[in-house]
Amino acid sequence: MTEDNHPTDPSAIRPETLVVAAGRPPREPGASANVPVQLTSTYAADGPVVYARSGNPTWSAFEAALGALEGGHALVHSSGMAAIAAALSLVPPEGTVLVTDATYYETGEALRELETTGRTIVRRHATDTAGFLAALPGADLLWLESPTNPLMDVVDLETVLARSRELGVVGVVDNTLPTPLLCRPLELGADVVVHSATKYLSGHSDVILGATVVADTDRGRALGARLQRHRTLHGAIAGPMAVFLALRGLRTLAVRFERACASAAELAVRLTGHPAVSRVRYPGFGGMLSFEVAGDAAAAERVCAATRVWLHATSLGAVESQLERRRRHPAEPETVPENLVRLSVGIEHVEDLWADLDQALRHALP
Ligand code: PLP
Repeated sequence: MTEDNHPTDPSAIRPETLVVAAGRPPREPGASANVPVQLTSTYAADGPVVYARSGNPTWSAFEAALGALEGGHALVHSSGMAAIAAALSLVPPEGTVLVTDATYYETGEALRELETTGRTIVRRHATDTAGFLAALPGADLLWLESPTNPLMDVVDLETVLARSRELGVVGVVDNTLPTPLLCRPLELGADVVVHSATKYLSGHSDVILGATVVADTDRGRALGARLQRHRTLHGAIAGPMAVFLALRGLRTLAVRFERACASAAELAVRLTGHPAVSRVRYPGFGGMLSFEVAGDAAAAERVCAATRVWLHATSLGAVESQLERRRRHPAEPETVPENLVRLSVGIEHVEDLWADLDQALRHALP
């Protein structure tokens, strides 16, 4: 964020305001409130950007807003996985990655790919803080997700990131689930934050988008230059229209997320006492939770198929509530129970969400 695209000192204003205000055009007479979508592949010579694979004003606006929220410098990527691929390119040849044993399953697949190219992957359970501290001295890069998706285990980010910073291990956090409204990993010592901006940041199930954010330090900026080079060389760039939509969605993140978090907390309580539910996994914050149906995989599938308000679908972080039995995906690890259903709570009325879940849970019985 630059001085002229924000009305006041950014460090003095709250995230709920920042998310609305950051990344706007300069306030000049007749200026537009939003950065327009620039559909161009190329620019006249001698300007700041020459070719749209390396820059676009719509990207810059989104990057300014997300960078302000996370407290660093953001880069937009064509998807969360493109952001993750860029961050994993920081692992040196024959390097070691220390990672939570549960991650988004395609991150897990990307790590397995790295293993086949001479890198070592060391996995620790999310809650095994002592295990992380013991393994950190041998690692080149630390990869954390908290809460883990879909098991909802929480990492002691403060302790683990503080130690990785001391040791000079590159610390990366996938901050998709908590969003910068609940967690700012760069302040805890992370070097890089990655996002699936497809999810809460854009929030309307209408774009696939990713982002990386680096700390505002010499080390962070050096890593940011490598991430930017990866984006330019590999060409996994976002279209300006998708970024415009994401920025439009980002403006309402705080109100959407507040509602989702409040409803998730209420649903966690109600599900805990439900006779068709054997276990609830709710981290105590955020808009996501998982539960195990009292029954087998087929029972869990019947519940998902029976909802009318909840969308039976594979994404998360949208205005519409979504649910899914995660083990229907073959790459989801066996540590995820067959009967586990993941919930992404949206912004509908909580009583409608509950009534729909409650009626769907009756289908758990054969
Ligand atoms: N990180 C997390 C935690 C996710 O849940 C996902 C997708 O579900 C991704 C990364 C990948 O993001 P995308 O689908 O935008 O590529």
